[in-house]
Amino acid sequence: MQDFIAQLNDAQREAVLQKDGPMIVIAGAGSGKTRVLTYRIAYLMSQGVDAFTILSLTFTNKAAREMKSRIAEIVGNSEAKNLWMGTFHSVFARILRAESDKLGYPSNFSIYDAQDSQRLIRGIIKDFNLDKDVYKYKQVLSRISSYKNSLITVKAYKRDLELQEADAMAKRPRLGEIYEEYVERCFKADAMDFDDLLLRTNELLARYPEVLAKYQNRFKYIMVDEYQDTNHSQYLIVKALSDRFQNICVVGDDAQSIYAFRGANINNILNFQKDYSDVKTFRLEQNYRSTKNIVEAANSVIEKNKTRLEKVVWTANDQGPRIRVNRLINDAEEGRFVASSIFENRMENQMRNSDFAILYRTNAQSRAMEDALRKKDIPYRIYGGLSFYQRKEIKDVLSYLRLIANPKDEEALIRIINFPARGIGQTTMDKLNLAANHYKRSMFEIIEHLEKLNLDINKGIQTKLKNFNNMIKSFRVMAEKKDAFDLAEIVVKKTGLIQEMKKDGTPEGIARIENIEELLNGIQDFVEGQKEIADATGSLSEFLEDVALATDLDKETDEVDRVALMTIHLAKGLEFPFVYVVGMEEDLFPSAMSVNSRSELEEERRLFYVALTRAEKQAYLTYVISRYRWGKLIDAEPSRFIEEIDEQYLDFMVPKDDYQFRSFVNPDIFDDEIDKSNLRTTKPKKGTPPSKTEEEEKRIRRLRKVKPQDNSPAKPRKPIPQLDAGQWVEHQRFGKGKVLEVKGVGQDKKANIDFQIGGVKSLLLKFAKLKLI
Ligand code: ATP
Ligand code: MG
Repeated sequence: MQDFIAQLNDAQREAVLQKDGPMIVIAGAGSGKTRVLTYRIAYLMSQGVDAFTILSLTFTNKAAREMKSRIAEIVGNSEAKNLWMGTFHSVFARILRAESDKLGYPSNFSIYDAQDSQRLIRGIIKDFNLDKDVYKYKQVLSRISSYKNSLITVKAYKRDLELQEADAMAKRPRLGEIYEEYVERCFKADAMDFDDLLLRTNELLARYPEVLAKYQNRFKYIMVDEYQDTNHSQYLIVKALSDRFQNICVVGDDAQSIYAFRGANINNILNFQKDYSDVKTFRLEQNYRSTKNIVEAANSVIEKNKTRLEKVVWTANDQGPRIRVNRLINDAEEGRFVASSIFENRMENQMRNSDFAILYRTNAQSRAMEDALRKKDIPYRIYGGLSFYQRKEIKDVLSYLRLIANPKDEEALIRIINFPARGIGQTTMDKLNLAANHYKRSMFEIIEHLEKLNLDINKGIQTKLKNFNNMIKSFRVMAEKKDAFDLAEIVVKKTGLIQEMKKDGTPEGIARIENIEELLNGIQDFVEGQKEIADATGSLSEFLEDVALATDLDKETDEVDRVALMTIHLAKGLEFPFVYVVGMEEDLFPSAMSVNSRSELEEERRLFYVALTRAEKQAYLTYVISRYRWGKLIDAEPSRFIEEIDEQYLDFMVPKDDYQFRSFVNPDIFDDEIDKSNLRTTKPKKGTPPSKTEEEEKRIRRLRKVKPQDNSPAKPRKPIPQLDAGQWVEHQRFGKGKVLEVKGVGQDKKANIDFQIGGVKSLLLKFAKLKLI
C-alpha cells in the first residue's frame, strides 16, 4: 500500500480506505480529522478517481490551500491542481458565475462584503425615515442574514406571520420591508452579499433540475471539514449535490461547534445518520497534537456540557507542563506579561515567533497585546478584525475596480464618485439616489441618461458627472485588453488617488500609500499565478472574485516570522506549540450575553475547549483584576472556565518581580521547575502506536468511566498538610476558608472547607494548595 497510508493509525486508515457511500467521522480535537480528509482525497486519486470530480469544502481558503499542497506532495501537483477545493463561498461563487444568467445576474456580478451590506442597510433605514436607535443596522442585517441562511426569502417572510410578529414585538415592524428593499437594491446593483452566495446556489439547484443534475454528476465525491459548523443553507447544498452518488464524507466534532450565533446548526452533524442510509461512522480517539496535560484539561472542561456526544480523547504524547494561570492587574500588564513570556519561551526553547498564538474572545482585546509586543520588538500579525482589504485606501482602489467590472455596483460608486473630490456633493448624490429608486435603475444608468431625465442638477455638476462617467468607461475599454495589474496601476494614477494621499504628508498618509503599493504587488502576484493556469488570463474579474472572498487568514502578505493574534473563533482547526488565552474573565469569557441561558453558556464552553486544544506544548491562561469595558474601569472576576479545569492540570504562577501584584502566590511552584524536555523544538515522534498496556488502560478507563491517572514525572510533592476541623486556611483561588471536616487517610485525605469565595468545597489535600493562617 502507498507510503502515506502508513502515516495513519488504524482508525484513521479505516476511514481513509472507506471509498464509497456516506460516512461521518466524529472525533475530538487534534485527532486527525482534517488529516483523514486530506489523505482520503489522495487515496481516491491513487485509485483513479479524477480530481475534477472531487469536491471538498473547508472552513478557510487557507485550510484548502494547505490541504491541496499536502495532496500535491503525495500525488503530484499537476493532478492536485484540478481538485475543487475551498470554502462554501468560494466554490459556489465560482459555480454561480457560470450559471448566473439563470438567476438574472450577469457573470460579473459584484460581491458585497459586510461593510457594503452595512452601508446599504444604513442607507435604507435613512431613506425610510426610521429611528436608527430602534432599527440598529447591524442587528437588522444579522436578522436578514439569518433569514437567508434559513432559506426564508422575502416571499416566505411575507407568508410567515409568526416571524413578522416576532419582529413587531422587537419594535421593528418594518423589518420585512427593509429586507425586501435590501434584496431589490442588491439585485439592481448586480450584487450578491455573502449569504446570497449560498441562498442563490440553493435557488439555482432547486429551480433548475438540469443544473442540479450537471453538478451532481460532476461531483462524484464530496467532503466537508468542520461539518459541525455548517448552517442550514450549506447543509441543503451538500445534501442536494450528494444525492445522486451518496459518496459523502463529513468530519466534525460536536464539541467544537461555535457558530450557532451565525446560524450554524449542530443538528446537521447529529442527524447525519438519519439523512443518509447505511452511514458508516468512524471515531478517532487518539490526539496527536497536544500534551497529556492539555488533552486531559480540555476533557475535564468539556465534560461539563450536558448536550454532547460521549467521546474519548487521549494521547500518547508527553505529560508536558501544566497549564499556567496568571493574574495581572490590568490589560497593559497582561500584555506585558504575555510579551515577556513569549520572549523568554522563544529564547529558552529556540522557537520561532510563529510558534506562538495569542487568542482572545473579542477583537478589542488585541490592542493591549499589540502595544506590549511592539515595545518588545516582537513581530506579530493580527488575523481578522479590520482586514487588509477593508482598509479605507484599499477599498477605495477596489471600488474603482469593481465599478469598472460592474457599472451597476452601487456601493462602489457611492464610495468613489467624489473621492478624490470632484465637486459632486451629497445633495447631488441624494437626487441621483432618488431618481434611481424612482426609475428602478442603478445610479450609474441615471448618470448615463442625465440629459434626458431633466433632474434638478445644474449644468456644472452635470459636466462633472459626465467626466466621471467617461473616465470609468475608458477604464472599461482598457479592461478588455489589459490584465488586472496593468489596469490597477493606471487606475491608481489616473484617478488622482495617489496624488491625493501624497498631499497628506503624515506617517498615516505614507502608510496608506505603502498599502496601495502592497495591493498592487498582490495583484501582480495574482496575475502571474493565473497566467500559469490554462483557462485563466489574470483579468480584472478573476482578480475581483479572488479578493472578494479572501479572508485575512488567507493572505500571508510577507515572509516575516510573526506571532499570531486572533479571536478563538478564527483559530478553529489551527495549532500552535504555545497558546496564550487572554482575558479569562467573567462577562468577557464567558461573554456577558451568554451566561443566562444554558445553551449559550455551553457554546462558550465549547469555544474554550477550542481555545485550549489549539496548544501543542503549553497553554497559558491570563486574567486581570480590573479592565476597561464600555469606557468604565470595572472589577473583573476570574472566568468560571478556569475553575472548571481539574486543578491537577493547573499551575497558578507567580508574577515576575517587575510586575506588582497582590499576593496570589503559592511559593511551592518555585520548587516545581518546568520540565524542559517537553519543550524541545522538534515535534515528538508521532504515529507510534500506543503500547499494549496503554490500550488496555484506556479500555478499562472507559469501562469504569474514571479519569486517567496523572502520570506526570514525579514532582516533589509537599507533605500533606495536617488539618483539623475549625482551622482557618487560605487558598490561592478561593481565598480564606474554615475547615469543616477532614476525611480519609494518606494520599486520599480530603477536607470540606467553607471558603469566602465559592462556599463549601471538598479538596483532595495532596493537590490542594493551602496555607494555614
Ligand atoms: P481539529 O479538531 O482541531 O480540527 P483535527 O481532528 O482536524 O483537529 P488534525 O489537524 O488533522 O486534527 O491533526 C492534528 C495534528 O496531529 C496535526 O499536526 C496532524 O498532522 C497530526 N496527526 C494526525 N494524525 C496523525 C498520525 N496518525 N500520526 C502522526 N501525526 C498525526
Ligand atoms: Mg481539523
